[in-house]
Amino acid sequence: MNFLEEKIVKEGVVKKGNILKVDSFLNHQMDVKLFRQMGEEFKKRFADKPINKILTVEASGIGIACIVAECFDVPVVFAKKSKSVNIDGEVYNAEVESFTHKCKNQVLVSKKFLNPEDHILIIDDFLANGCALQGLISIVSQAGGTVEGIGIAIEKGFQQGGKIIRNLGFQLESLAIVESMDASDGSVVFREQ
Ligand code: 5GP
Repeated sequence: MNFLEEKIVKEGVVKKGNILKVDSFLNHQMDVKLFRQMGEEFKKRFADKPINKILTVEASGIGIACIVAECFDVPVVFAKKSKSVNIDGEVYNAEVESFTHKCKNQVLVSKKFLNPEDHILIIDDFLANGCALQGLISIVSQAGGTVEGIGIAIEKGFQQGGKIIRNLGFQLESLAIVESMDASDGSVVFREQ
């Protein structure tokens, strides 16, 4: 087991409805040392890519994305989930269905912060059905930029997102891939990588 899989076994809670709760270290309280290990691992896995910007989506991707951005020494942009009064000018947007909240959100990025010269690494905490990633990929493509890769902390391998994104030809690197999990006994089984 790698460092993230060990942490999931130790602190993750399997909830009904295929939800893995990792709020003690990933998306409520945040273990920043663990994020740094994740950032260093992504740096290794995407070493040959000319990445100049990190893109994520609010809210839970932001913490990890910031630390990853520090490891790559590049800026990070996060897509906003609603049109804020603070976004001025034109925006790229995509519609994303939320797996956890079961609703549709518009995600927006100001045209000022993405352009055709950008070589983007997309970062997010979870990959389930892949809607969030497809929204971010669409935003990069609207900007004329290049998606150099996608880094995910936890992929739920029993949902379709990973397959869809890999079939589109992207280099998708997930640090932990959950093959199966069981809310009745809390067990989590990882895919061998
Ligand atoms: P997708 O768009 O791939 O279906 O879902 C990705 C988003 O849903 C992630 O950004 C994450 O916020 C949320 N998500 C999906 N599955 C889980 C889960 O099992 N646990 C938690 N905490 N969030 C999840």
